[in-house]
Parts: sequence; C-alpha cells; structure tokens
Amino acid sequence: MTTAEHPVCPHCDQELQAFELPDSIGFESEFHLACFNDECPYYVRGWKHMESNYAVKASYRYRVDPTNGKASPLAVWSEDAIKDRIIEASVGESDQQDNGGCP
Ligand SMILES: [Zn+2]
Repeated sequence: MTTAEHPVCPHCDQELQAFELPDSIGFESEFHLACFNDECPYYVRGWKHMESNYAVKASYRYRVDPTNGKASPLAVWSEDAIKDRIIEASVGESDQQDNGGCP
C-alpha cells in the first residue's frame, strides 16, 4: 500500500480533479478535490439514494479536502453541476502527457 501522490477516488479509481469552491462556504482551502466521473458508483448510487429517500433529483460526488485529507460528499443537482469550476491545480507531481508517437 502506497500513499498516492495523485489522489484517486476509492470508489472508481479515477483521479480526483480540483475544483474551486463557492466562496460563501468558508473552507480554509481555495479548492477541493472531487471525483467527476459520471460512472462512479458512489455518484450513481447517490441519485437513487436521494430519489428514494428524499424524492429529490440530486446526488453527490466523492470529495476530499486537500488540506486535511478528509472526504465528504459534494452535493450536486445535475450531471454538469460544479464541473464549470474544475481547475488545473497541480496536486503533487503533475503527470506528463506522452505525445511521443507521431501519426
Ligand atoms: Zn469516483
């Protein structure tokens, strides 16, 4: 077991993406990390859970606060919610895109 340099979602193994927080919330960090995979089981399950328990069309994504590593659900109301806040923030080492093979 190694601690991942680039955090991944424990539910779907996708890399977490940084997104800007709405400034009204008052977290310490400027951005959090979340799993924006639309097929993430955590997120897919969220839709069903919210609908059957609360009769609302909403779900939540796996989210981590990079300052303390704590995970918490990020409520979303549509597939595109929060996606316009995704930013390019380097967390640990940025992995290099290998574009070596020319066509
Ligand atoms: Zn995920």
